[in-house]
Amino acid sequence: MKHAAVVIVGAGWAGLACAVELSRQGRPVILLESARQPGGRARRAPFGSLRVDNGQHLLMGACHETLRLMHLVGVDTAQALRRLPFDLHVVGGGEALHLKAPALPAPLHMAAALLTARGLSVGERLAALRCAAALTRLRLAEADDLPLGDLLQRYRQSPRLQRLLWAPLAQAILNTPPEHASSRLMARVLRDAMGRSRHDSDLLLFRTDLGSAFPDHAIDFIERHGGSVRLCSRATGLALEGQRVSGVALQDGTALSADAVVLAVPPYAALRLLPDQPALQATASQLRRLDSQPIATIYLRYPPSVRLPEAMIGLAEGPIQWLFDRALYGQHGLIAAIAGGSPPAVPTDNTALAAAAADAVNRLLGSTVTPLDHRVIREQRATFTARPGIDARRPGHATPLAGLWLAGDHTATGYPATLEGAVRSGVECARYLLQSDNGQP
Ligand SMILES: Cc1cc2nc3c(=O)[nH]c(=O)nc-3n(C[C@H](O)[C@H](O)[C@H](O)COP(=O)(O)OP(=O)(O)OC[C@H]3O[C@@H](n4cnc5c(N)ncnc54)[C@H](O)[C@@H]3O)c2cc1C
Repeated sequence: MKHAAVVIVGAGWAGLACAVELSRQGRPVILLESARQPGGRARRAPFGSLRVDNGQHLLMGACHETLRLMHLVGVDTAQALRRLPFDLHVVGGGEALHLKAPALPAPLHMAAALLTARGLSVGERLAALRCAAALTRLRLAEADDLPLGDLLQRYRQSPRLQRLLWAPLAQAILNTPPEHASSRLMARVLRDAMGRSRHDSDLLLFRTDLGSAFPDHAIDFIERHGGSVRLCSRATGLALEGQRVSGVALQDGTALSADAVVLAVPPYAALRLLPDQPALQATASQLRRLDSQPIATIYLRYPPSVRLPEAMIGLAEGPIQWLFDRALYGQHGLIAAIAGGSPPAVPTDNTALAAAAADAVNRLLGSTVTPLDHRVIREQRATFTARPGIDARRPGHATPLAGLWLAGDHTATGYPATLEGAVRSGVECARYLLQSDNGQP
C-alpha cells in the first residue's frame, strides 16, 4: 500500500532520529522545525566569531543508540568525540574527590575506582561501594520509586560523599538534586553505564559543535532518502477527519495532509498542538504533570594560555557545578561553566552569573585572570524534573487518537532527559509507527 508522508513536528534529536529511521525504511517524511536551525535543545550557537553550543553536552559509552545513529548518518564518531575512561574530579570547600576507573572488566572497574578514590576515608569508600552496588541492583516498580536522597541516607552516605560524589552525579545525569530525584531513573543509568561493559562508562566529549555532531548530517540523510526538512516552519494545530489525524496546520496559513503525525516537541509545545478530544485527556494530563529544570551555560573567553588542569571538573560549592575546557574543540582559552538550578542559588542577572563563573575559574586555578569576553545562554526548560514516580507520568509513543504519535526525551523511554533518551524515543516511535502500518499493534 502506498502511504502519504508522515509529518514530524520538531527537529530536535528525537524528531531527527524518528525521521532518519522512517526514511531508512522507505517511508516518506516531512520534518517541520519552527526554529531557523535543527537540534532543539542540543544545537550550535554563535559566540562572536566562535561556534559554541546552547549548552555543553556530554555522552557516555552506554549511549549506544546515539552513537549508532550518528554513525548511520555519516558522522565519524571517532573524530567527533573524544573518549576518556571514566574519570571524575570534583573540588570544593577545600576538599577534592578523584575517581578513576582502571582497565578492569565491568563492574570491577567501578568497584576499584570507588575503593581507590582519592579524597575519601576508607569507611566512605566502602559505604560508597555498598550504595553504588545497591543502586545498580535496584529494580523498583514505578509505584515504589523513592527520592535518591532517602536511599543515600539509608546507605549512610556521609555529607562529604553526598556533596562530592552523589550530588554532582545526580545533577549530571538527572539535572535534579538528590532529594528530589528518582532513584529508579538513577539506578537505570548506573546499571547501563557501570554494570555491563567497561567502555559503557567512558565519557564522550564532543570535539565538534552539536550541529555538526548529528543534526546537519541527519538532514542530509533524510533528504537523500526522499524526505523533506522545512526550517522556520511552525505547526499551529492538527487537522482531524473523524477520529483520525489527517494533517497539520502551519503558521503561514497553509496546511499539510498526512496519514500520521509525530509530535517530537517538548511537553508544553505538545499540549498546545493536541486537539481537544476526550480520548486525549489522559495524555494531556500526563504532559501537564511534567515540569522542567533550567540550565545556564556561561562561556568565558580567556587568552589561549588559560587552561584547566582537566577537560572537565566538577565544583561542589557555589552556583557553578561543572567547568569544561573547550581546548578539546580547538578553542584554546574558552571555558564553559554550567549552572543547573534556579534562583536564588543561580543568579538571574547574567553579569552576576558570569562573575560567579569567572570566580570559580580563579578559585580553581589559584589565579586572578579576567575573561576577555563572555556569553550566557539560559535554557529555562532544559530537562524534565526527574522526580520519584516520573516514569508513570511519561506518555508512550502511540496515543489513543489514530495517526497521532509522540516522541521526545520526555516520552516513556526509561531514560532521563538526555540525547540518548531523545534518540531512543525517535527510533522507537518510528518502529511502532511502521509496525502499525503493517497492521501490528
Ligand atoms: C543546557 C543543556 C545541557 C544538556 N546537557 C546534556 C548532556 O550533557 N548530555 C545529554 O545527553 N543531554 C543533555 N541535555 C538534554 C538534551 O539536550 C535533551 O534531552 C535533548 O536535546 C531533547 O531532544 P528532543 O528532540 O526530545 O527535544 P527538543 O530538543 O526540545 O526538540 C524539539 C524541537 O521542536 C521544535 N518545536 C517546538 N514546537 C514546534 C512547533 N509548533 N512547530 C515546529 N517545531 C516546533 C523546537 O524548536 C525544537 O527544535 C542538555 C540540555 C540542555 C538544554
